Amino acid sequence: MKDELKHPVFRIISELSGKLNIQAYVIGGFVRDIFLKRNSKDIDIVVLGNGIDFAEKLQKHLGKSAQLSVFENFGTAMIKYKDWEIEFVGARKESYRKNSRKPIVENGTLQDDQNRRDLTINAMAISLHPDTYGEFLDPFNGMEDLRNRIIRTPLNPEITFSDDPLRMIRAIRFATQLNFIIEEKTLEAISTQKERIRIVSPERISDELNKMIMADKPSKGFKLLDKTGLLQIIFPEMSRLKGVEKIKGISHKDNFYHTIKVLDNISLHTDDLWLRWAAILHDIAKPDTKRFLDNAWTFHGHDALGAKKVPQIFRRLKLPLNHKMKYVQKLVQLHLRPIVLSQDVVSDSAVRRLLFEAGDDVEDLMTLCEADITSKNDEKVKRFLENFKIVRQKLKEVEEKDKIRNFQPPITGELIMETFGIKPSKLIGDIKNAIKEAILEGEIHNNFDEAYQFMLKEAEKYDLKPKSM
Ligand code: ATP
Repeated sequence: MKDELKHPVFRIISELSGKLNIQAYVIGGFVRDIFLKRNSKDIDIVVLGNGIDFAEKLQKHLGKSAQLSVFENFGTAMIKYKDWEIEFVGARKESYRKNSRKPIVENGTLQDDQNRRDLTINAMAISLHPDTYGEFLDPFNGMEDLRNRIIRTPLNPEITFSDDPLRMIRAIRFATQLNFIIEEKTLEAISTQKERIRIVSPERISDELNKMIMADKPSKGFKLLDKTGLLQIIFPEMSRLKGVEKIKGISHKDNFYHTIKVLDNISLHTDDLWLRWAAILHDIAKPDTKRFLDNAWTFHGHDALGAKKVPQIFRRLKLPLNHKMKYVQKLVQLHLRPIVLSQDVVSDSAVRRLLFEAGDDVEDLMTLCEADITSKNDEKVKRFLENFKIVRQKLKEVEEKDKIRNFQPPITGELIMETFGIKPSKLIGDIKNAIKEAILEGEIHNNFDEAYQFMLKEAEKYDLKPKSM
């Protein structure tokens, strides 16, 4: 293993380990990632002794280029050194209580520490002590599981998951990220222990969920969450998308499978987590709006209702309630609009309205719409994609002409007040809005002179005259 630990920082830790005669090991994700050839800058070091003391001594040795942070409560310390983040902890043995993820911790051996790890592939360690430098310690055959692409807990999966239920989501996250298979007993244990997930904070669940969503093919994770019953507990709105109803021999598509297909599609084109969330949520209100009318299924209004649900879902999952949420909400609200624009005859004003409402997110909206095509009929897919190409072209042409995307009203409220010598009131907003509408409808161009003339005319309706006249 010596070759894998080429970086001088390992030699330095090794020297210190020898000098203090304290065993130290690299463990967990860093070791796993060596074999997966993933470049990791996060290193976890376990020492058979006090992790904080060890880190403090190392910091003295490395000098000013290393910054130390100590987390007394957790018994850990972190050193930032160049672009590395090295975390130190004493080997520990953990025991759990029923209602908390927080274990009772005692000092332990390396083996105790490996036993408390979530997955075999995350429990491998490499010794750094000079006497055994590079020795590979893999008591649960994590290496073999890596080779065979298997996710498995080191010990009894039911106990491992019951102790810390977040591990169930981590198992699914890693299976999705690495495209591994979850071993049968481990998968079964997730199903039997699923209720335990309720003791985990939504923040921790969402952190893992977001990592899963960033995988190349996130549908795999959602299928596993569904199959094990976790989805129903942590994200019931998505679980409700499942199922097909048939009336008079006419069925609608399964919106859960449709949604995760859209998510896979969009993941080929974007690494933006929030655009991926827009794909997850675009049809979230379909179950609430489903009707069978005139021998067809309709989901009328699912775009608006879906947008309304976005903040509720973000709040519950403890996702940020800021501009990211607003962005997802906007895309959900607008996701049907480009379809209307793909019809043969479309007025420029309809295009301008979409540009105005979507603003700079119009490209992302088009990416979502293209991902939303999940027909199995290749001809249809081709035709729809062609149509969206035409929509993109129309958007481009109208934007070049009218500059609507970053619409700034050419006439400000101040100018209206000054021109007519009036105080702030609702009237100002009404006039501004009338100018905006006239621009979007194409009655006037988006420039100051035409907007000014329009304002004068509009003001006449309210018997307003410019001050100077
Ligand atoms: P990534 O960098 O993709 O998040 P990672 O495995 O490095 O992967 P961390 O969350 O940094 O993820 O965890 C570091 C190590 O700590 C893991 O490899 C694992 O050995 C251990 N670990 C993390 N979370 C748990 C947990 N809930 N239960 C048991 N062991 C855990």
